Amino acid sequence: MAEVKVENLTKSYGRLVAVNDVSFSCKDGEFFTFLGPSGAGKTTTLELIAGIKKPDSGKIYIGDELVNELPPQERDVAMAFENYSLYPHFSVYENIAFPLKAPTRKEKLSSKEERKRVEEMANLLGIGELLDRRPQHLSGGQRQRVSLARAMVRRPRVYLLDEPIAHLDAKLKVAARTTLKRLATKLGTTIIYVTHDYKEALALSDRILILRAGLVEQIGTAEDVYLSPVTDFVARLIGDPPINLIDGELVSVDDKFLFKVNDEFSFEIQKEILEKAQRIARQENGKLKVRIGIRPVYVGVSEEKLSPNSFQLPVYAVEHEADSSIVTFELKDTFLIAKKNKKVNWGISDKVYLDFDQTHIHFFKKTLELSKR
Ligand code: ADP
Ligand code: MG
Repeated sequence: MAEVKVENLTKSYGRLVAVNDVSFSCKDGEFFTFLGPSGAGKTTTLELIAGIKKPDSGKIYIGDELVNELPPQERDVAMAFENYSLYPHFSVYENIAFPLKAPTRKEKLSSKEERKRVEEMANLLGIGELLDRRPQHLSGGQRQRVSLARAMVRRPRVYLLDEPIAHLDAKLKVAARTTLKRLATKLGTTIIYVTHDYKEALALSDRILILRAGLVEQIGTAEDVYLSPVTDFVARLIGDPPINLIDGELVSVDDKFLFKVNDEFSFEIQKEILEKAQRIARQENGKLKVRIGIRPVYVGVSEEKLSPNSFQLPVYAVEHEADSSIVTFELKDTFLIAKKNKKVNWGISDKVYLDFDQTHIHFFKKTLELSKR
């Protein structure tokens, strides 16, 4: 086990800066996740840590050791990729044992020790009974466990796992996530994990590093990134339906401040959040512009006017979930989504009242383009 510390890591491919001055420190035994969309630089960062690629600049420490000049096999890390398929002519046992036989290994196990290790790992993953079978006689979920066992059968200082369960369908993925979390907890080894799926990141991680076009956007716990996203990008990446981002201006009327999108859509900003709104707002063409973020569950929708701050909009669409409804409204450059924990049966263009729970409003600078897609 070891901590991993990365300082000012940069890697370009030609003119593209894939990893841009990335720094973080992952604690010994931590489950640390890189989260970001495709192309954000997650895999490249992992490959730099593994030693498969060389950085243009920056330092990588594993434990107290600067490993920049060490070849991959001497870094004592195990790296697993998304599409590791099983060897069809090997038994489950042989598949799992395979990494233990690699000639570069520091750790040399006797065949007895090897068997013990493979059985231990198989039992942890609930596939101890399957060791003599061939992969073609396994279910998809069982195969997935075998590949996870193979990825983690070694005892390195650090595991580097690149989207190891991304290709599974939704149900298998949830089961695999649980298995992985159990395994990680039992092993207690430092894990750096890569995913583009925010749910996986929240479910598994001690901390999450959010990457955007090679740059670190935020590092924090699941609560940090969900409750206190530092940018509109982080806010949008996490949550489903996605957080509403709405651009408007701060307008002072008498002794009040309004957040105004247009003539139909404006509300008074409560005192508690006014200071934050003013701090983040920017002058643009003589107007004080700001972007707000509010998650769909905090957008109240009702047939009655529930507060002086309620405003009315026509319904764009209503979708149903098992015991809730998703109500969408159309704004100029985006949609506004409300999630109501009750089924509603409003028709298109029905006018309903909206009410924002202002304690859950975030204010952002604009760093994302909005679209209706
Ligand atoms: P992620 O894993 O987050 O999807 P990657 O680290 O694979 O991102 O890629 C980051 C960026 O670097 C992308 O724009 C990708 O196209 C580019 N890239 C990755 N590998 C190479 C390569 N070998 N040559 C050129 N560009 C690359
Ligand atoms: Mg990748």
